[in-house]
Order: sequence, then structure tokens, then C-alpha cells
Amino acid sequence: MAAQLLLGKPLAEKIKGEVSQEVVSLKATGVSPSLVAIQVGQNDASRVYTNAQRKVAEAVGIKYELQELPADLTQDQLLKHIAGLNNDPKVTGIILQMPLPAQIDAKVCQWSIAYEKDVEGMTPHNMGLVTYGKPRLVPCTAKGAFELVKSTGVDVYGKEIVVIGHSDIVGKPAALLFLNEFGTVTVGHIATGQRGLTESHVRRAEILIVAVGVPHLVKGDWVKEGAIVIDVGINATKDGKIVGDVETEIAAEKAAYITPVPGGAGTATTAILMQNTVEAAKWQLEKRA
Ligand code: NAD
Repeated sequence: MAAQLLLGKPLAEKIKGEVSQEVVSLKATGVSPSLVAIQVGQNDASRVYTNAQRKVAEAVGIKYELQELPADLTQDQLLKHIAGLNNDPKVTGIILQMPLPAQIDAKVCQWSIAYEKDVEGMTPHNMGLVTYGKPRLVPCTAKGAFELVKSTGVDVYGKEIVVIGHSDIVGKPAALLFLNEFGTVTVGHIATGQRGLTESHVRRAEILIVAVGVPHLVKGDWVKEGAIVIDVGINATKDGKIVGDVETEIAAEKAAYITPVPGGAGTATTAILMQNTVEAAKWQLEKRA
């Protein structure tokens, strides 16, 4: 079987179109969605993301502001800064860009973001809603992976879903999204790999999500005939190429659908961030009503 490529761009474009319309409707009710990204210290990789965020935000009509704070900022100062944004009704979404300097505990600061402005879905409240099957603001890349699978038209109910990687930002929320639709979900991680068990789980997967960050960790011949393969990994090689966590070309001989890297799973992330920004604005409106 030659797999059909699952590209992220059509999903991103569809979401951007929907978000643009919702922004127009919200503005008509007097609400202007506005996203603030906080960057502590300089970081070139993060700048690539914030530039992309600004471009997409402006394209869909969302006000975007990058706030650059000094690298020697204390955790208390950052917490006060976030509290100020939480209390500012003109700010409807807040992102804390990673990485943060060593003196700052990322979780403590992310968790201090008001849950209804937490557009990355990282607060316990929002993760709790995903866990309870009532997702509202969901981590963007996890949602992108889920939506790409859904875009194939597959019914997740009862399917063997294997998620390799259990990070808070991708693997765990992705696993929960599939569990909420009665997927039979297995989650693998570093300990699975250390016991040499990743291959046996991958071989069973009718839907495979890989979010690890190890180039070509999943060998192409492990992939089950007819599987849907979502490769979230983004890895830079020594010769300057970007590769995923799956041996895409070999896997494509067996899979029904597979995401390319780049251009696949991560491509809709920024569009989903804007979708979350609109959802956050609507949530705040409801709370005020
Ligand atoms: P992470 O480092 O937080 O988590 C990695 C996960 O992989 C952990 O669960 C770990 O236990 C597991 N793992 C590590 N080595 C393993 C091994 N040998 N075998 C099995 N499991 C192993 O990573 P993350 O933030 O979830 O990111 C994962 C990948 O996805 C990275 O390549 C990252 O760049 C990419 N990513 C892409 C986007 C995007 O496209 N927008 C967003 C987030 C992450």
C-alpha cells in the first residue's frame, strides 16, 4: 500500500478560515481577542515561533503582542507580571514562551495563568477538563494530531491507538483525546523504550502517534498495514535536514495515511493556538454574563 500523505496545511487553512469568521462575530459584540506572548530572555528558536504567531494572529484579525522581559527576571516578578495580564480585560489570551531561564519554574508560572486565558491548555484546570472528557482549551499540537486523524474520516471507537511519548504538551493530552472517543489507548515512553517494547506496541497500532524527539526511532517496517501514522517529532540532523521520529518513506509502504515532516502534524499548531484564543475570549464573555 502506498500511503496517502496527511498534510497539515489544509487543516491549518480550514481552521484559520473559521477563526477569522469567529473574530468578526466577536468584534461585532464588542470583544476583541488579543493574545500576549511572554518571552523571558532572548531565544532564537522561540523567535521563529513568535514571528509565526504574529503572522497568523494578524491574518485572522487577532491582536498580538510580544512582551520581552529581561533574562535576569525573578520568578516572583514573572508571577506578578502574569497576574497583571490575568486582571487586564483587554488581554484574552496568554502564552509563556519556552524555554525559561533556570531561576524560573515553568510549571509554577504556567499554572498561574488564568485558566480561561490559558490558550496553550497547560493549567491543571484545562488538563482536568480534557481528562473529564469536556475539553475546552487543549494543548495545540496534541489537538492538531487528533484533528489530522479525524480528517481521514476514521471512526476512533475501539481502535488500537498507540501514542509514543507522554509529555504534558503532546503525548498525554493526545492520548486523552482518543480515550474520550473510546479508542483503546496505549501510551509508551522512555521506560517502554528501555525495555525494548516500543516495537511490539507500534506493530499493533491502527492509529500511531509518535511524539518523542528521536530521529527515526520508529522503524518503517514496524508500522501495521493500513495504519494511520502521525509523526509529531521535529529533529534537526547534522546535514541541516529536518526529520521526524518515524522512518517515513519505509512506513509509507504499509500505512494508509502518514504525515510528512516537515509539513505534517505540527503545521496546524499555530492556527489551533488562534482557535484557542477565540475560545478563550468566548469563555471570558460567558463568565462576565
Ligand atoms: P518531551 O521531551 O517533553 O517528551 C518526550 C517523550 O518521549 C517523553 O514521554 C519520553 O519519555 C519519551 N521518550 C524519550 N526517549 C524515548 C525512547 N527512546 N523511546 C520511547 N519514548 C521515548 O517532548 P515533546 O515536547 O512532547 O516533543 C516531542 C517531539 O515533538 C519533539 O521532536 C518536538 O520537537 C516535537 N514537537 C513538535 C511541535 C510542533 O510541531 N508544533 C510541538 C511540540 C513538540
